[in-house]
Amino acid sequence: MHPSPSLQQRMFQCAADRPLFVRSAQLAQDYMTGVADQPVFPPEAALTGLTGFDGPLPDEPCDPAAMLRQLHDLGSPATTATTGGRYFGFVTGGVLPPVVAAKWLADAWDQNAALYVMSPVASRLESVCQAWLIDLLGLPAGCVAGFVGGTSTATAVGLAAARQELLRRQGWDVNAKGLFGAPPIRVVIGAEAHSTVFKALALLGLGRERVELVPVDGQGRMQAGALPALDQHTLVFTQAGNVNTGSFDPFDEICDRAAEAGSWVHVDGAFGLWAAASPRLRHLVKGAARADSWSVDAHKTLNAPYDCGILLCRHSEATVMAMQNTGAYIVYSEKRDGMLYTPEMSRRGRGIELWATLKTLGRRGTAELVEELCDRARQASGLLRHEGFRILNEVVFNQVLVACDTGEHTLATLQRLQASGECWCGGTSWQGQTAIRLSVCSWASTPEDIDRTVAAFVNARG
Ligand SMILES: *Cc1c(COP(=O)(O)O)cnc(C)c1O
Repeated sequence: MHPSPSLQQRMFQCAADRPLFVRSAQLAQDYMTGVADQPVFPPEAALTGLTGFDGPLPDEPCDPAAMLRQLHDLGSPATTATTGGRYFGFVTGGVLPPVVAAKWLADAWDQNAALYVMSPVASRLESVCQAWLIDLLGLPAGCVAGFVGGTSTATAVGLAAARQELLRRQGWDVNAKGLFGAPPIRVVIGAEAHSTVFKALALLGLGRERVELVPVDGQGRMQAGALPALDQHTLVFTQAGNVNTGSFDPFDEICDRAAEAGSWVHVDGAFGLWAAASPRLRHLVKGAARADSWSVDAHKTLNAPYDCGILLCRHSEATVMAMQNTGAYIVYSEKRDGMLYTPEMSRRGRGIELWATLKTLGRRGTAELVEELCDRARQASGLLRHEGFRILNEVVFNQVLVACDTGEHTLATLQRLQASGECWCGGTSWQGQTAIRLSVCSWASTPEDIDRTVAAFVNARG
């Protein structure tokens, strides 16, 4: 009897098993081409099937083909069809097929993007993405970019850089001394700021509740006239793209006030900052480039794979100081060391996929993508209004807020819509009104998808 092969023998064998990888690619491609026909939210049978994953940790290794088969058989039908054309929940980007292909290659590379010496290719592609993003978004030359998991983290990094710099100017080294006993920093923020901004404030010791809230208008835009007096100890949080209405803060007016006072301005531009990439929509972010730092997601509007968020900051030194990390074995190079700009040390090479996304789209493709999402949102709002639904927001970007005659009717419609499998929208409450949120965020949403979605709304209304 032969002894059973070692883990190492089995893994070498698996690496050489071309049919396994071909099978995986086939399954993935079948998924990509079939996703349009699958229920947008998994049906009950698929959800029940997920119990097939339960059970104790197996003692013995699993045959790779059997592992892949189980993942596909139980997993694929239980996915939410976010890469198809009729998923409108949250602000959830689809994914560009060529980038999936590039990601497979990069997955095999399994690069660690912490340091140049750990991955020259990840380092170089981060540098290239940094330059391209500054160009595409119209930001000041000399900005640095940190590539993180999403806007939540990007905002926390921006806030850390702001905290570092505002306190340094007052002679306080927050890295060394922390916040206890530090001079105060004021935080001025719109009443409709995203929840993740408050999370970042809590995380960095600035507190969710010691903020000065600025009143907003009916679209959630900060009223610049209602800003409190600013000073050089103040951080102002603005927003490009309200998560409900898609509205944009008046950046020019806010930046005028901040510039006079020497305040730091951060822009939460998770999905909306991409308006800057379109000549037609650029007016929405007018003045946003005058800020000090920006957070933006590539996995939303840009349709890069999850997870991919970016912090951009014009104060490179403050960013690096805030993310400071040293150790005898850490070798910084003359080239880009990604961990200088991120909270993490080890980090996957998400700049590789971002490069693939920007390369696939180019300047023109990016504008086309963003404009198409907005056109589909406008199409949906026009048709829904025509069908007698109320549209609660000015549709300036990719977000549409839909309501029936009463809150109860809206909720019942939403539940039937979600159960239909035809499309998926989430719910919200907008300034006291129950609403259905429709966020167009996938390249794959066609005019026909919008027609079908509107028909599903009409059916669900009963
Ligand atoms: C999605 C979103 C965030 C959070 O981004 P993540 O990538 O989910 O961390 C922050 N702000 C706004 C306006 C958003 O839409």
